[in-house]
Amino acid sequence: MVADRLLLSCPISQFLNPPDGGRILVNAESSESQLDTTMQSVKVVVVGAGVVGLSTAVCIAETLPHCSVTVISERFTPDTTSDGAAGILFASQFPDIPLEQQQRWFKESFDHLLAIAQSSKSGETGVILSSGCQVFKEVPADKRPFWAEHVLGFRFLSDRELKRFPDHKFGQAFTTIKCECTTYLPWLEKRFGKAGGKILNGKVSDLQRLADTYDVIVNCSGLGAHSLVGDAKMHPIRGQILKFHAPWVKNFVRDGDGHTYIYPGVNSVTLGGTRQAGDWRLEVDVGDREGILERCFRLEPALHGGKVVGKWVGLRPGRESPRVEVEWLRTAGGQEVPLVHNYGHGGFGVTLAWGTALDALGLVRQSLLQHPPMAKL
Ligand SMILES: Cc1cc2nc3c(=O)[nH]c(=O)nc-3n(C[C@H](O)[C@H](O)[C@H](O)COP(=O)(O)OP(=O)(O)OC[C@H]3O[C@@H](n4cnc5c(N)ncnc54)[C@H](O)[C@@H]3O)c2cc1C
Repeated sequence: MVADRLLLSCPISQFLNPPDGGRILVNAESSESQLDTTMQSVKVVVVGAGVVGLSTAVCIAETLPHCSVTVISERFTPDTTSDGAAGILFASQFPDIPLEQQQRWFKESFDHLLAIAQSSKSGETGVILSSGCQVFKEVPADKRPFWAEHVLGFRFLSDRELKRFPDHKFGQAFTTIKCECTTYLPWLEKRFGKAGGKILNGKVSDLQRLADTYDVIVNCSGLGAHSLVGDAKMHPIRGQILKFHAPWVKNFVRDGDGHTYIYPGVNSVTLGGTRQAGDWRLEVDVGDREGILERCFRLEPALHGGKVVGKWVGLRPGRESPRVEVEWLRTAGGQEVPLVHNYGHGGFGVTLAWGTALDALGLVRQSLLQHPPMAKL
């Protein structure tokens, strides 16, 4: 259960474009006296409450206690893209980010979630270990991907194991993590509340106007960055999946082409998928559904006898590489306000959320040192 929220009205609504009649939500754990105290401290706002926004907000609120952190978002769990993601920790390489940085993002996220998966918190967070394999129709150039040493027990499939996949010539077996965001995001929200965080519901139409109220702005708007900051590099990569009842299927199987995957989870198996770049449709497509079932049954015949129990379409926040960097806004009064971007994670936002959140935290801290904020009313 997400922490209870109080309904308040406050002047902040002037720069919001509330979707539901001006509802302003503030975490119940924030008392009036807490609000008074934090008004004197550094004010940070995080735009977006998907896995990237909430991870970033938690990292800042827990690490920089002198900051008062507010999350403003149009949508919350269970209605974000993150909620529908299969949530398997896995990555491809981005072209414009140093490999060392991508390795760090992966390792930090993996280790963070591994500690949760191996603790008593696994059930309440929806973070579990998941073992299986990725198989390739042709032997890939990079047989040992950059994340191989960070997952558990990475190895190549034996010829005997590969016999199960007659269309495939090569395979990798490993244990990774499945992070189910419909459970993980409510838990992160609660954790944020415990760290003193506040939550407001509304659509931000102009980041510049936030600079009049906040000392630091963090942009975790995912695909929303396309319009919010006019980032023409942002594009949707449509993904359709099915939720499937087949509790006897325990191990994941992924085709190396990224189009077909079977990921057993806590309550159902996720069958996917599609990767349709530039496609904004959120409706379920019957042709896609049939294609997913046909490909998944061929890859994992043990699915026969199961049944479809759900369907979902989401738009991955596509970008050649994620944008994790700072730019500076100038207020009408001439103050410089840092705008830290953390968006554009494509098909790997659950995988990289914690690692990029730590980098965003580093940028917030660095910006505050560089330009200590002047008091805002
Ligand atoms: C079918 C499918 C399967 C996937 N499987 C995986 C997987 O197995 N592993 C993996 O790592 N990733 C997976 N992904 C990718 C993953 O879902 C994304 O990378 C991730 O959700 C991005 O998180 P985010 O927080 O940036 O975006 P989102 O979850 O979209 O959150 C963005 C937030 O910003 C808010 N927002 C946007 N604009 C505004 C605005 N103007 N004002 C206020 N708020 C705003 C939104 O309301 C939302 O709360 C999958 C995606 C799809 C579609």
